[in-house]
Amino acid sequence: MIAFLDLKQQYASIAPDIEAAVLNVLRSGRYVLGEEVAAFETEFAAACGVRHAIAVNTGTSALHLALLAAGVTAGDEVITTPFTFIATAAAIRYIGARPVFVDIDPATFTIDPARIERAITPRTRAIVPVHLYGQMANMDAIMAIATRHGLAVVEDACQAHGSRQHGRSAGSIGLSGCFSFYPGKNLGACGEGGMAVTNDDEQARLIRMLRDWGQDRRYHHVMEGYNYRMDAIQGAALRVKLRQLESWTEARRARAQLYGRLLANSPVEPPSEAPCNRHVWHIFAVRTAHRDQLQKYLAREGVETGLHYPVPVHLQPAYADLGHRPGDFPTSEAAADSVLSLPIYPELSLRAVETVCALVGQDAYVS
Ligand SMILES: *Cc1c(COP(=O)(O)O)cnc(C)c1O
Repeated sequence: MIAFLDLKQQYASIAPDIEAAVLNVLRSGRYVLGEEVAAFETEFAAACGVRHAIAVNTGTSALHLALLAAGVTAGDEVITTPFTFIATAAAIRYIGARPVFVDIDPATFTIDPARIERAITPRTRAIVPVHLYGQMANMDAIMAIATRHGLAVVEDACQAHGSRQHGRSAGSIGLSGCFSFYPGKNLGACGEGGMAVTNDDEQARLIRMLRDWGQDRRYHHVMEGYNYRMDAIQGAALRVKLRQLESWTEARRARAQLYGRLLANSPVEPPSEAPCNRHVWHIFAVRTAHRDQLQKYLAREGVETGLHYPVPVHLQPAYADLGHRPGDFPTSEAAADSVLSLPIYPELSLRAVETVCALVGQDAYVS
């Protein structure tokens, strides 16, 4: 069996360090925020090349707070992509703002900057590009549009830890950037976690207050805040894992490169990396017109795969009230119908990659 993801293998490779770090927290009596979380913030900010990192309980919370700090309020419009995990749109809706979708570039699966300006109205307040699968959206083009129209840019970097574009880190280019440490992400906690990063002192101050009940000092609540603090155990575990992130990313890149080479003349279309990007391959999604058959065939052969994502956000029943219909964002809908995520993680053997490619190349699933 080739698993889609095997977190036990990753744990085994660093178990003594994680266990020592977590035990240290258990014995410290300090379980929320504290020194470990503060140290993780400093180290994560350095890894991203930003001034500030504010640790929170989930990536969704990071997005929610970054949008609030950017001044998004109820009734505002926020431009984003429909081809993303539901959390991107949910964070916008938590504020009572409206997600305004813009279709994707089929080559990178990220928001198509050429379509953004048409979606801007007097109510538009922000743009949330999503660095989907680990590859950054075209930030030069997005920042130019945002500057021209006075819009905030909040990067959804929840799948893009360590990703870069023209040498600049994901999360460091917009007003702020948001990361998730959900266990399956490239940098995953032993539970839930998230981070907002920014170079803007005022954004950092606001996000820091908002995550901890809007206090400027204890029991003095200057704004309505949230309980979005990071647990000390997660901060301690994430510090250990952050030290491995670069080598894990390089291992993902090596597996993606092998996949790309072996699938070059196969019946499926392998994903591409834009020349200016350092893709970190959270997801390796191939495209095929026979997606469901290929998925079933691989399952029968013992290869687990995933779908990211089978239904674009604008067609989710949860957001039916936005009034969208099939056909509104055809490139996203075509992607949702044709993508299949193959296993990719640092511990996946190169042999397993070869096995998967041999099966994909057989064409036996096309009936
Ligand atoms: C995982 C993810 C989120 C949400 O992060 P959580 O930590 O699960 O709340 C948001 N956006 C994208 C693109 C994600 O992949």
